[in-house]
Amino acid sequence: MKKALLLLVLAQAFTVSAQDCPHCPPSPSWLTIFNPYSLPAVPEPDPLIEISTPALTRNVLASYCRRNTDVVDTIVFHHTQTPSTSTVQNINEMHLDRGSAADPWLMIGYHYTINSPYAGGTVPTPVVSQGRPFDLAGSHAGTNSYRSADEETKRLMALDGAMRCGTVSGPLTEATDKFSPSGLVKGNYNTVGIAIIGNYAKRTSENLGGWRPPNRRFPSASTIEMAGKLACELQRKHPRLKTIRVHRNYNSTDCPGLIEDRIPQIKAVAARFGCTFN
Ligand SMILES: [Zn+2]
Repeated sequence: MKKALLLLVLAQAFTVSAQDCPHCPPSPSWLTIFNPYSLPAVPEPDPLIEISTPALTRNVLASYCRRNTDVVDTIVFHHTQTPSTSTVQNINEMHLDRGSAADPWLMIGYHYTINSPYAGGTVPTPVVSQGRPFDLAGSHAGTNSYRSADEETKRLMALDGAMRCGTVSGPLTEATDKFSPSGLVKGNYNTVGIAIIGNYAKRTSENLGGWRPPNRRFPSASTIEMAGKLACELQRKHPRLKTIRVHRNYNSTDCPGLIEDRIPQIKAVAARFGCTFN
């Protein structure tokens, strides 16, 4: 009994002196050594890439979904099928215009855009911009597109609070369309959309701005460098982000054109900075 009391007194003395207390005497040096609060914070690595955050117009009548960012495990690459000189603001306006009174669009559907010259081109100046905030579900992988996901993503997605949807005027409620009847996960919910601005698909009657054979249009080295750095920067912040796909993996579309051929190079850039993608 006496032993237990002695231990209790010692424990209390240790607790008080180990805390940051303005009324307490300074801790003896041996205690400071073992005080975890005295350890220097691990410095965050310098960001790999600068991301501009322009103010973008939003339609306050539109519905949106705020997500637990832990569910995000996949990057989906797109091209914008616009001239390479388009800006993130242009794409935002374009997506707002796609909405209707019955189905208004919130804002740009991609989370990031990369402005960069075509291979061999000199304009525009390469810049990465934030589009839709990361913690909002995107609108880029097809509204009714579902894909398989690993067990951890499915577990996180099933939790209450993983995906809360509504409008700014009403309460957000848990999404009821997170899974398909066969257990696939809604593509827009567990992904982050990155769009490389420009048109990298073949010219067709539906895509008059595309490239004509045999003059295939590839992303430049600077585009690939920026895409790889952005992917790695996102993985550093969201370690569950381990997969890179392209829009065509979700929908019947030619997006992202020849960017798809450069995904291995984008992964190689990310690997140079210590990031691994499937
Ligand atoms: Zn796309």
